[in-house]
Amino acid sequence: MAALASVARIAYLASDVLVDSQPIPSKSPFVETFNTLDKTSNHRPTVISVPLGADPGSALLQSHVAGLTSYVASSNPEVLTRLVQHLAELSSLPVALHLAVQNDLSDVLLLRSSVPFFLVSSTAQQAHDNTLVASRLARTEKKAVVHVFYDDGKDIVDEIGEDKIMPFLLGDKPHARTTSVINGHGNGHANGVKGQASPASLTEELFRAYESADLSTLALVRRSLRPLVQHGANDPRTVIFTLGRANFSFDLEGISFVSITLLNPLPSSHILKYIPASATRVIVLEQVERWSMKWTPLYLDVVGALQQRTSEHRPVVHTGYLHPSDSITSVDILKLIERASSALPSTRLTLGDASSLPERLITESPQVPKHESSYTKILTHLFSDRLDISNSPALVPTQGAHATSPEFALGRVRGQLDQRADLIRFVQTLLAEPTLDKDLHSLLSRWLLAKDDPVKSRTLGSQIIDNLTSSSHSHPSIPNILSLRSQLPALSRWIIGSDAWSYDLGSSGLHHAITSKLNINILIIDTLPYSSRHSADPSRRKRDAGLYAMNHGDVYVASIAVYSSYSQVLQSLMEADRFEGPSVVLAYLPYTTEESPALEVLKETKLAVDAGYWPLYRWDPSKERAGKEPFVLDSDAVKNDLQQFLDRQNHLSQLVRSKPQLATELVSSLGENVKEARKKRAQQSYNELLTALDAPPLLVLYASDGGSAEKVAKRLANRAKARGLTTTVATMDSTPLDTLAEEEHVAFITSVAGQGEPPQNGRTFFKALNAAVARGDKPLQKLRFSVFGMGDSHYWPRPEDAHYYNKPSKDLDARLEKLGGERTINLGLGDDQDADGPETGYKLWEPLLWKALGVDSIEVHEAEPEPITNEHIKAASSYLRGTIAEGLEDTSTGALAPSDGQITKFHGIYQQDDRDIRDERQAQGVEPAYSFMIRVRMPGGVCQPDQWLQMDQIADEHGSGTFKITTRQTFQFHGVIKKHLKPSIQAINQVLLDTLAACGDVNRNVICSAIPSLSKLHAKVFEFSKGVSEHLLPRTTAYHEIWLDKKLVAGEALKDFEPLYGEFYLPRKFKIAVAVPPTNDVDVFANDLGFIAIVDTKGELSGFNVTVGGGMGVTHGSKKTYPRLGDVIGFCTAEEGPIVAEKVMLVQRDNGNRVDRKNARLKYTIDRMGLDVFTAEVEKLLGYKLQPARAYAFDRNVDDFGWVTGEDGKHHFTLFIENGRIQDEPGKDFKTGMSEIAKVHKGTFRLTANQHLIITDVATGDLPLIKGLLAQYKLDNLSQSGLRLSSSACVAFPTCGLAMAESERYLPLLIDKVEAICEEYGLRNDSIVMRMTGCPNGCARPYVAEVAFVGKAPGSYSMLLGGGYYGQRLNKIYRETVTEPEILAILKPMIKRYALERTDGERFGDFVIRAGYISPTTSGKAWYDGMGGEGQYRET
Ligand code: SF4
Repeated sequence: MAALASVARIAYLASDVLVDSQPIPSKSPFVETFNTLDKTSNHRPTVISVPLGADPGSALLQSHVAGLTSYVASSNPEVLTRLVQHLAELSSLPVALHLAVQNDLSDVLLLRSSVPFFLVSSTAQQAHDNTLVASRLARTEKKAVVHVFYDDGKDIVDEIGEDKIMPFLLGDKPHARTTSVINGHGNGHANGVKGQASPASLTEELFRAYESADLSTLALVRRSLRPLVQHGANDPRTVIFTLGRANFSFDLEGISFVSITLLNPLPSSHILKYIPASATRVIVLEQVERWSMKWTPLYLDVVGALQQRTSEHRPVVHTGYLHPSDSITSVDILKLIERASSALPSTRLTLGDASSLPERLITESPQVPKHESSYTKILTHLFSDRLDISNSPALVPTQGAHATSPEFALGRVRGQLDQRADLIRFVQTLLAEPTLDKDLHSLLSRWLLAKDDPVKSRTLGSQIIDNLTSSSHSHPSIPNILSLRSQLPALSRWIIGSDAWSYDLGSSGLHHAITSKLNINILIIDTLPYSSRHSADPSRRKRDAGLYAMNHGDVYVASIAVYSSYSQVLQSLMEADRFEGPSVVLAYLPYTTEESPALEVLKETKLAVDAGYWPLYRWDPSKERAGKEPFVLDSDAVKNDLQQFLDRQNHLSQLVRSKPQLATELVSSLGENVKEARKKRAQQSYNELLTALDAPPLLVLYASDGGSAEKVAKRLANRAKARGLTTTVATMDSTPLDTLAEEEHVAFITSVAGQGEPPQNGRTFFKALNAAVARGDKPLQKLRFSVFGMGDSHYWPRPEDAHYYNKPSKDLDARLEKLGGERTINLGLGDDQDADGPETGYKLWEPLLWKALGVDSIEVHEAEPEPITNEHIKAASSYLRGTIAEGLEDTSTGALAPSDGQITKFHGIYQQDDRDIRDERQAQGVEPAYSFMIRVRMPGGVCQPDQWLQMDQIADEHGSGTFKITTRQTFQFHGVIKKHLKPSIQAINQVLLDTLAACGDVNRNVICSAIPSLSKLHAKVFEFSKGVSEHLLPRTTAYHEIWLDKKLVAGEALKDFEPLYGEFYLPRKFKIAVAVPPTNDVDVFANDLGFIAIVDTKGELSGFNVTVGGGMGVTHGSKKTYPRLGDVIGFCTAEEGPIVAEKVMLVQRDNGNRVDRKNARLKYTIDRMGLDVFTAEVEKLLGYKLQPARAYAFDRNVDDFGWVTGEDGKHHFTLFIENGRIQDEPGKDFKTGMSEIAKVHKGTFRLTANQHLIITDVATGDLPLIKGLLAQYKLDNLSQSGLRLSSSACVAFPTCGLAMAESERYLPLLIDKVEAICEEYGLRNDSIVMRMTGCPNGCARPYVAEVAFVGKAPGSYSMLLGGGYYGQRLNKIYRETVTEPEILAILKPMIKRYALERTDGERFGDFVIRAGYISPTTSGKAWYDGMGGEGQYRET
């Protein structure tokens, strides 16, 4: 016991804390020495005994002190396995671990790669001295030192006195030797080169630290201590390295013996010094009996060191087993050399008696066997450029032979992940720099957000590098980021190993990988054929690596076989890649030789899978955390032990479900700091799971059309997670009833669509519930549910419609109970009409839910993430770029990313989907039929014939075959699919039009009166409109980059700058109209900014009255929203106009509400600021006061149809295009007709803001031709009723995502019926302005119509009355909900009275007010006053 006792003594006297592994029931072999010293010594460390089964690593971490903590134990796989988990943390603490071994170093060598210092003592004296070295090293370097010694070393030990130990440990560091010593003769030169070596690697630095401790010890004990000890021939032909106990005191000619004491750090240069040029053969003998990896550790070091030499100077290297015997003779050595000379280098040799050894180590050269490449090919196929095989044979030429070892791979991955963590830190530091360039800031923050996204991290990463290298930024983090650029893309990291790892799982590389918790994927290829399984060596018991990994808890495990199920292989590899943490994929590929035919592999695979010997399965613990079944069996049979594991797991889940109070108790016991508790929880292994039950899972299901219910559901889920609940959130339609039946706690959130119907993404679910109720089933007996509904109690104000209020939530609550579910808390109802909207009800409901789930007492400190708003999206878009360009490349979806969908609006593009087939596609399980609407920017609506022809062609080639003239005097295409977007935009630009700023929070298309008869005036106002539009255009070059492939701004090191908009653009859209009295065809008062042309007595344009604050959009039921008409604030000249427009826009930019988009338009800003204050702000920016407004008079806002001759003698024809739709219909080939006209027309076209078209500037000589074509295509038919000619509708269904009811497709049908009423009362030719929209956004300006219908739900509209004929007065709601029969019933007597009682020239809108149906609307804010009708016409 001399070795044990002397190690125990030094450890005791050198340490402040001493941890001792205590075998139970027997005693620790070190205890006797400790007890003796306790009585005799003046130094008394704190001694802690840790039972053998406990975790010594935790004890060391908890008890370590600033001085020295030592640990003593006998090597034992159980102890070492537990220790390994903590070595990463321990390695930077002053800890010395003294481990006693017997005859085999296999177990302790597993610690080697995780600690900075690793010493091996083969004699008792060495053990004594190295305990001193280890103690000094740990104390001075503050790093962990592993010291391994043989516990049976019995040689006499010369011990150092107690009084010398502490001074030795605390003494100054001597200067280290600059190089190591050979035979005691240092030459003072590194690598034989005089002077300072190149910058020391970490290994060299550690080595110098070792030498320093070694020198101090030498001074103390006066014995030579060397990391490598050599004796024998000076110019040997053979060098024999030994690791372990070997007593070769004899010399042999031509042979040099080198025994290793220091295994870490062991620089290659120091190994090479012991292999002189004379050596032709090196034999590396290690006392390693069991080793699962291909190569033993010292052998790898020697081979690795020799890679530094050219191949002709490399000796042959053999690996061998060193038997721990004292009786090895010179004859044994000679025999060894003889065997080596005839054996292949890969053959493992032995020195001494090896009869008791298990099978020899694997000795294949590192090449991927032919069959196994089938898996590597799949990996390459799946992950292409982000695949990183960390132990790829391709690394051998650069990294040495050890590059294929799992230890190397694991270290490499760890290093890479550390580098990535550094990179993230540098990026964060750079982001904190206040003067950072905005583009770079945006790129870096986007990368940070998407750093784990395989595609985005790579794309953004290369943009960051481009940005950093192409500009002159200076910051200390930038060189660091550039040096770590390889870590910018998110990689899929794989280690590929053989089934050899399964033979000693507890101490193999697999174990290290599993316990590392690194995000690493391990593919283990098992090649043992099923039919040979019994002939496999029974002494080598291969364990089920999958089961082993599953038992560790947080590891993804899959068992696959490429010759059985290719799709399962793909699925598993992708899931493994996605899993955050270690993944183990066991791949079966049975073959006996490289030449085994594929048919044999196939046959063996089938046998193994069918018999359950190789079950196919996937185990995903992340699913378990999400409350789902973590295990999926992909084949029919499983092995017994796997079945037992699953039974146990299942039993646990059942237990939690059957005793929810246990789960509640567990949650409550999580304590105050939930985050900490959750972290701990994540680290629990499966064994711990057996004694601790998890929190109840909560599934949050929502149905939402507008997104409000979805937001509430997601917020609820986040809050549940913060309270420690395992929470999943999904749409109702994504959850089949049988899945719901397995759930325990489900919270439902739903809003209302249409007339009390469930929202789109809940309809299938509701149908399934209804069907189950009808069948009388009770499938939800396990379910505990809670429902919260969001609705508007005023949406359906009639008493008979009151049941529509929150109908889906009420129905859901009742149905769930009928189906056997148990209500956790009562139904919660949120009402838009409450003071705080639906939040009022929600604030009462949510706390009840926490209480019911037992988590109400948990304090949540975490701030809820700020919701991402359009303002964030704009700011992060890098001046309207977003990731649109990348999204266009993504062919896996027809959609763009949601944030890009907001940004493309600024480019004139809206993402939509075909709502007619939404349900059908959902039922098929495919994404909605996404397409895009493109809107052209065409100020004043003036279009040349070649441009018309191009629009016609774009509609055919890229769109739905039709196009539309919009209320903003431009063209709009629908149904353009993603891959046609770019060609469409390019085609539009080819004819000198564009789509920039046609939508979005910017100034939109500027419209102006069409006035066909006033050619000169029109030319001026048109030029003015164009000038204003150009002046207010965004200046970003993103549009040109993305759609027109113009050079990237980033690549040019230029920076986008928006002088008018800034990076946040406007709070909301901004609309400008220019009207020329007496026509108000543009509805100038419905625009944010209006210019009313003032013409002098000679007919010349003097300038414009300026109006501000018009706007149409409203939200049903929200009284904070209302339509408003613009106010006239003064007069400006035409030259001043663009600047006036700019200043009005800037005041809105800086004062508009950016928090609430529903309250962001200029109309609300003006009402909030007051018109006077607003005007004063504008004038302050202008630097002068606007002139007083001048007189003007409007008399209509409808178009003048038919031919007129202008003042210049040219002819103009205004033709009626119903709702602006240019299409061919049976008998009405309008689209073809217009294209034929465009082919011959020499003038221009002018679109009107009422969605009609003027063929302008027809010379007298061309009249017959144009008239002929108009007649041929029935385009000259103006015989429609006055009602139809004055009507207009927005697009609504099927493409507009906001539509609640039909509009463009329905208004013509409604007009058919109202027309009949008009005809009956002699009003066929009387103009009544009737407008319809599918939602309250008001695209067709319904709030200034004499009669209007605004969609609420399919077939239901709000009916509005009393607008001014020329857009001078708002209408208001007459009936909140009407259907067609009600519309007709209301209008018939009204129209009759109008026909009979109207005064001369009295307009319908004025009549309904005079007749007492409705009161006039005096201002936007008063819009709700008097709604519902007056007196006897009031809605009851
Ligand atoms: S008014 Fe509403 S439904 Fe109609 S096009 Fe505009 S947003 Fe769509």
